[in-house]
Amino acid sequence: MESYWLCNDCMQAVAYDDFCTLSLYYSEAEVERRITAMCTALQALLPLSADFDPHTHTGSEACSSHPCDACCSALHGARHRFTRL
Ligand SMILES: [Zn+2]
Repeated sequence: MESYWLCNDCMQAVAYDDFCTLSLYYSEAEVERRITAMCTALQALLPLSADFDPHTHTGSEACSSHPCDACCSALHGARHRFTRL
């Protein structure tokens, strides 16, 4: 099975269908653009299954320089592992 490492924003979008974290960082127009880009990227990867444990942090990296596999964000930060079903 293929694994993908997704940034926090994409993780929220996949796991909770929630884009509200985006609005904390971007203007409204930027949020729209980023959601569109993320949805397109995520659609290509779906179906994905979360493969990390928020309690033990297995499958999560707190600070990774690996670009997000969905939105290609190269910003350093948390990455969470997902497996393609
Ligand atoms: Zn991402």
